Formats: sequence, C-alpha cells, structure tokens
Amino acid sequence: MSSVTVRVPAKVNVQLSVGPLRDDGYHDLVNVFHAVSIFDEVVASESETIGVSVTGEWADRVPVDDSNLAVRAARALAKHAGRTYGVDLVIRKAIPVAGGMAGGSADAAGALLACNELWGLGLPREDLMEIGADLGSDVPFALMGGTAVGTGRGERLAPLTTRGAFHWAFAIADGGLSTPTVYAECDRLRAATSSKIPWPEVDPDLMEALRTGDPHGLALHLANDLQPAALALRPSLATTLAAGRAAGALAALVSGSGPTCAFLAADAAHATRLAQALAQTEGTYTAIPTSGPAPGATLL
Ligand code: ATP
Repeated sequence: MSSVTVRVPAKVNVQLSVGPLRDDGYHDLVNVFHAVSIFDEVVASESETIGVSVTGEWADRVPVDDSNLAVRAARALAKHAGRTYGVDLVIRKAIPVAGGMAGGSADAAGALLACNELWGLGLPREDLMEIGADLGSDVPFALMGGTAVGTGRGERLAPLTTRGAFHWAFAIADGGLSTPTVYAECDRLRAATSSKIPWPEVDPDLMEALRTGDPHGLALHLANDLQPAALALRPSLATTLAAGRAAGALAALVSGSGPTCAFLAADAAHATRLAQALAQTEGTYTAIPTSGPAPGATLL
C-alpha cells in the first residue's frame, strides 16, 4: 500500500460544562460532542521520514514542523509500535484553525487511522483512541464521531444514539482564539465572583432532545460555560450571535472555545438561509451550513 486517505470531521460541543480548576491545572468537564459534516482529509504516503504539508483555505495558519498534531500523532503511533516508521502526510484543511471545532485534533485522529493502515499495524480503534488521548482530549472523539458524552478532561467517552440529523450554520470569525487562553479567562472571570462553581452534570433534557432528534428541544438546552470567556476576549462575537438569532436561528452559541459560532436550524433549507444571512455580518469571515452527527475518522 503506497497511500491512504482518511476523512475526519469537525465538532461542536452541544453541552460544555466546566467544573472547578483541579490541582493538576485541568478542569473536570461534561462535554457533549457532536460531529458535523465539515471534513479535513489526511493523506498518508510512504516515506523514509515523518513530514507534513497542508493545503486548503486555512493552510497558512497551520505549523508544518514537529508541532503539527498530525506529525505528533504519527510519531506517537510509531513509538507505540516500537518501530522507526516514516510517512509523508498531506492535510487538506477545511476545518477552521483555532476555531473551537477541534481541527488539529481531527488531523491527529486522521493521521493515527491513516498510519495504522499504511504501516499495516492492524490496531483496533480503541487502541488508537488511547494513543490519541495523550495528544489532546478531543482526539478520541474525532476517531469515534457521531454524538458522545465526554467526562473527566473530556477524554472518557460514551457514544450516544441520536435520531435523524440536526442542521447547523457555522459563522467562522476572522482570526482564531487560543483554547488555553479561553480557559484561563474562564478561570479569571470565575475568580472575580464569589459564587461556587457547580460540579458538571449531564443535562437530561439535552440528552432527551438528542435521542429523539428534536431541534427545538435541543435549542432550549445548548450550553457552553466557555462562552462568557470567549465573549470577553472577543466582544464582537456578541454581534455575531445576535445576528444569527435575528435571522431566525433556533439557538446560537459559541462553539467550544470559539471564536466560531454555531446556529441551530430547523432543517437544511433553514441552515442555508442562516448561513447566507451570517455571511453578511461584520467580523464573519465565512458562514457554512452543515449537519450532524457525522461519522468519525473514515478510510476513503
Ligand atoms: P479545540 O476546539 O480542540 O480547542 P481549535 O479548533 O480551537 O481546537 P485547532 O484548529 O485544533 O484549534 O488549532 C489550535 C492550534 O494548534 C493552532 O493555532 C495551530 O497552531 C496548532 N496546530 C497544530 N497542528 C495543527 C493542525 N494539524 N491543524 C490545525 N492546527 C494545528
């Protein structure tokens, strides 16, 4: 086999509840992931050494050295296998970079699946998820796809069966936000108030809306504890959220650590109309209609 291509989805967090800061610097989370049909592709070809190049709209924002998450994933897999393997990785980038849609984690997941195949390792997906968890807490979900409840740092995952499709429009902002900076801002905002941070719990009404495929029920229960921090760091996002609500979105929220904003629609045509309206909003680079749940990393 000389070349393998893997397609891997972006995600939105339909519930992101952030617990108190732990001694190890992490937070306990309830993180309900939902994969959407915006895909990066990772092409892995035979090579003597491990290297990466990136094509597509966001390519110039992605590092092509050893800090690239796909390279780190390939190295971690080779180490796990106990061999010196090489691979030439090409990432075809469609997921916004530093957008709160876990694009880097998606590429890491894509590289794990592609190299597992290219190198003939035959590891089960569960093993790849375990290796991926060390690279980033969103990597196991990019391998799993669909809709899933993450607990712990977000890396303990339980798949959730949902009905039908949910339709979304995503407003991609000019420029990204760093996830660690957004968590730090969340801690800072919380430290400034005296209220006790509740232990994160799965919202049973949200689960029911997902299980029954009810976008109106889901709209009532979307929640993101990082949203105030993202809005504090990027106040223009309030305008984006308001524009989507004014255009008729069932609900609007910041996706993960932002600055991408997610707008829930009643159906596919509604999502397309919302995206058209959002594309005109100041500060929005582009707007994309899409749907979920999308499958996890898939060999093409
Ligand atoms: P998350 O939602 O998981 O917090 P994100 O979507 O906000 O992440 P990413 O697109 O994953 O952010 O990228 C975060 C940073 O990681 C980028 O600014 C970039 O410097 C670095 N990075 C490393 N490898 C990659 C990659 N393959 N694709 C994108 N970014 C990468």
